[in-house]
Amino acid sequence: MRGRIGLVLTLALLLVAGWWWQERPLRPSVTTRLLMGTLVEISTWGMPEALSMRAVALAFDEMTRVEERMSRMRPESELARINRGQRGQWQPISAELALVVDRGLAMGRLASGAFDIGLGSLSDLWGFSLEPPPTRPPPADRIAGWLAQRARQNDAGIERSGESEKKIRLDNAGVGLDLGGIAKGYAVERAVEMLRREGVQDALINAGGDMRILGSKGGKPWHVGLRDPRDPQGVAAILDLAGEVALSTSGDYERFFMADGIRHHHILDPKTGQSARAGLISVSVQAPDSMTADGLSTALFVLGEQAGLAMLRHFPGCEALLIREDGSHFQTTGFIGRWVKGP
Ligand code: ADP
Ligand code: MG
Repeated sequence: MRGRIGLVLTLALLLVAGWWWQERPLRPSVTTRLLMGTLVEISTWGMPEALSMRAVALAFDEMTRVEERMSRMRPESELARINRGQRGQWQPISAELALVVDRGLAMGRLASGAFDIGLGSLSDLWGFSLEPPPTRPPPADRIAGWLAQRARQNDAGIERSGESEKKIRLDNAGVGLDLGGIAKGYAVERAVEMLRREGVQDALINAGGDMRILGSKGGKPWHVGLRDPRDPQGVAAILDLAGEVALSTSGDYERFFMADGIRHHHILDPKTGQSARAGLISVSVQAPDSMTADGLSTALFVLGEQAGLAMLRHFPGCEALLIREDGSHFQTTGFIGRWVKGP
């Protein structure tokens, strides 16, 4: 009798174990979608397929929602509506958009204006978000006009009413909001929130240069590579990431064109109106959340090594890897990553 109970118990255990192995595949479940002008990939680990798919679909929906609100290029977005609004007039703004705008403005103050969410009209002149992408720089007098307009009026030209009031006013005719340097990070953070809400504990989101890790890959860290800025197939550094960590990269190789031997790319220097050229070709920032990592990587790229590292000191828990024009690199002591490209 006892032997039979033992046998039944063993069989039951085997059945449960079999179900567990089947339901929890030992490989990540990966889904990709074209969003925010880039390929977004969400990987989950150790979850039953159906639950994972549901969570990932909700995360993508959430990112789509954020894009529809914060994209400068969608005429019906809340951001585009504010950009069309009359200068000097208070306009209503949603709490969500206000949050991202306020983070962008704060980032801009710490970057002494090198990070500037008000450069939308300059982005329009360059047209890097257009299809097809540009092949020539805008006429010099248009850029000079933009710089002059900003210099004549008060610089930032973006006023926010008190926290509770949720209003915004654009004062400068040359100012248009562009959240391209920070909103993707916010969207990724929202996606993480959705995954977590659906019970996902282990995931990796890769949104074209913005990575966010949640938990581990079956107890092991997620293994990711950073691109070599001058070799689309090459890897410059590898990282083993686990827990709550974001990693964002801004580089001059993502969206660019060459004209007369000069590389023109989508990260702009508000001081010159030209693509930022401060000696760096790639900046990766590791931070506790994606919005900080995203904003900082863009800001540091424009600031360059010295001023960039000075700015980074204002952000505890943030680390950076900088790749210079000559291919050499510098990484702060806490940056989790191993340089593999050579000297
Ligand atoms: P990506 O969007 O390719 O990941 P970034 O996060 O570095 O790259 O952001 C680049 C985008 O940020 C540009 O496409 C533009 O919308 C915006 N941008 C460009 N220059 C600046 C700047 N100096 N300050 C703030 N935003 C900027
Ligand atoms: Mg950025």
